[in-house]
Amino acid sequence: MRFTTWAGFWLRDGRRAARGVGCAAADLLFPPRCLLCLEGGDHTPFCPTCADQIAAERSRPACPTCGSDVAAYEVRLDRCAACRGRSTKISATARVGPYRVALGRLFRGYKFQDRDELGPLLGDWLVEAVGNAHWLERVEAVVSVPTHWIRRLDRKFHAAEVLADHLARDLRLPHVSLLRRTRAGRHQLGLSFAQRAANVRGAFALTPGVTLRGARLLLVDDVRTTGATVEECAKVLRRGGATEVYCAVVLNAGQTRADNAVMVDV
Ligand SMILES: [Zn+2]
Ligand SMILES: [Zn+2]
Repeated sequence: MRFTTWAGFWLRDGRRAARGVGCAAADLLFPPRCLLCLEGGDHTPFCPTCADQIAAERSRPACPTCGSDVAAYEVRLDRCAACRGRSTKISATARVGPYRVALGRLFRGYKFQDRDELGPLLGDWLVEAVGNAHWLERVEAVVSVPTHWIRRLDRKFHAAEVLADHLARDLRLPHVSLLRRTRAGRHQLGLSFAQRAANVRGAFALTPGVTLRGARLLLVDDVRTTGATVEECAKVLRRGGATEVYCAVVLNAGQTRADNAVMVDV
């Protein structure tokens, strides 16, 4: 566990302990505060300003195929300009939102700052995003993008796996272990699309003994940046016999417009 200060430790675990004693006492000791700006007040989980910002980010139009930000009219085209210019193994993508200010801060709090309380919230939003997809009824099982065992040593948990669990449980679909990561590769931060593609090429394999004849799968990852990772996973799944691979990501950091360009380390 990583605690920067004892105050941080007390706030995190003290609040949890107090909630176990009783809600009224917990509220007295730790009055509710907005999960994004952390200001106090009666608003939970978000204050009105943060709730508006989150709603605005979540409602931004996305490419139905890759989940990148697009202009509203492009949603009807089914594929953004980038998707029209390349072949993809992903049939369609659902996302919670783009990797922008509010959603990005919440996601980093969950993944890197031990803010466990944000996990169920992000999971519920992911369920909502996938629940709105017209292709959901075709999905037979959920599979998460795996991490290499060496990466597990420096992370308390694997976000894609936890979120896929949440999604599968809520949608009453099996979460199956079909992929394994055979090579850790370099950290992706700062790599171009071509470099990221090379970094993950051959890095995944089917779990030994698995056959996927005609399977229709939902691949889950926490963040999609260039799409190289999910494309590589989808390629392996299709080569193994899957006929449809859909994708669900919490945040999409791959943008088709320069002003939205964000490169994140995931
Ligand atoms: Zn707030
Ligand atoms: Zn696209």
